[in-house]
Amino acid sequence: MPGSPDARDAYRAPLGTHDVLAPESDRWQELVARFADRARRFGYGLVLTPIFEHAEVFHRVGESTDVVSKEMYEFEDRGGRHLALRPEGTASVVRAFVQHRPPVPWKCWYLAPNFRAERPQKGRYRQHYQLGAEVLGVDDPDVDVEVMALLWGFLRELGLTRVRLLLNSMGDPESRAQYREVLLAYLHDHAGLLGDEMARAELNPLRILDSKRADWQPMLDAAPRLGDHLGDDSRAHFERVQAGLRALDIPFELSARLVRGFDYYTRTTFELQSDTIDAAQNALGGGGRYDRLAEEMGGPPTPSIGFGAGIERILLACDAEGALPAPGARVDVFVVDLLGTEDATVLLHELRERGVACDRAYGGRSGKKQWSAADKAGATFGVMLAPREADAGVVAVKDLRSGEQVEVKRAEVGDWLRDRTGHE
Ligand code: AMP
Repeated sequence: MPGSPDARDAYRAPLGTHDVLAPESDRWQELVARFADRARRFGYGLVLTPIFEHAEVFHRVGESTDVVSKEMYEFEDRGGRHLALRPEGTASVVRAFVQHRPPVPWKCWYLAPNFRAERPQKGRYRQHYQLGAEVLGVDDPDVDVEVMALLWGFLRELGLTRVRLLLNSMGDPESRAQYREVLLAYLHDHAGLLGDEMARAELNPLRILDSKRADWQPMLDAAPRLGDHLGDDSRAHFERVQAGLRALDIPFELSARLVRGFDYYTRTTFELQSDTIDAAQNALGGGGRYDRLAEEMGGPPTPSIGFGAGIERILLACDAEGALPAPGARVDVFVVDLLGTEDATVLLHELRERGVACDRAYGGRSGKKQWSAADKAGATFGVMLAPREADAGVVAVKDLRSGEQVEVKRAEVGDWLRDRTGHE
């Protein structure tokens, strides 16, 4: 059948996707837990939306962007509906807002897989995960600052230091429309240099601005700037955003050419970049205002702002900076069973019910193999169930770091270990 993988590939994850196994997945868990905790502190609630939507939801947000026009996984379901896998987070959240009309400000965060048929490379996958946050229904520049502080502080708390916040204002749609014409005229003057890309420029001249092509840089540096075409309201908003960031000691760089990938942005746009990753993939997260999107989806006027940040990219930056190492130990206690009765099962159950993380080997392995499994599990304590100790109503507990061994009464060992492993 055309398109079906040959036998060698059939049972491998599809191109551009990956499995995440422990201990790498422990880092994911930690990352998500920290983000969730931070979002809660900022007053955001979790939102879950389907991973596929009616394709119109995404077409609405970016007909002229590659993510929608070239990279989207679109399909017809068995009922003939035209659907698409989510390529980005904001559109689904806005669709959910328009559908349910929660009271504003609606502050929500999400963790979601996104799908884009890109050319896979390090930091660029066909399925990637984003952590994101959105605030719908507020025009106040203070909320722009809040949203950026949420992401900035999250990355800093992870231990990332080589991160830069780039900031720009896209203005309101009216002033942007004016600017678009000015920019397009300028690009026409450089049509020779742009070559085939002139067609793309016609469609969305602003996207040319964030091109990384070295031979275009002098031309782009000299291009007219959107910042010089902002309306009064957008300018005042932008100044207040900058003042807020300064008040929070969040360093930022104004970046007139930061336009980001989606058509829906208005006013504030921002991106957090890591200096440790290749330029083409250095964006850890980014976002901005999308003041008109809810209306375009049939909702009331709802000025809004949000961001999405890629988990895989953040972890790449963590690797480069030695931040968020994979936790070594999976369990605190390892039970070594030389009895072969139900006692091991019962002891593990008692410990787990007390909140102690513990494990064992299975299948009647030798004592030596079990002790080596205890070491591999990174356990702090090994608890040995053996005939002599069982007769005396005790168990042998070995501190695997110091090698010191003590006897603890079998009836007391659950509390004894709970008290020494720091769990409730
Ligand atoms: P975007 O939705 O394009 O603004 O992307 C938001 C963030 O998601 C980026 O800053 C990246 O961290 C991440 N991201 C976007 N596309 C990919 C991809 N194909 N693979 C991995 N991460 C991605």
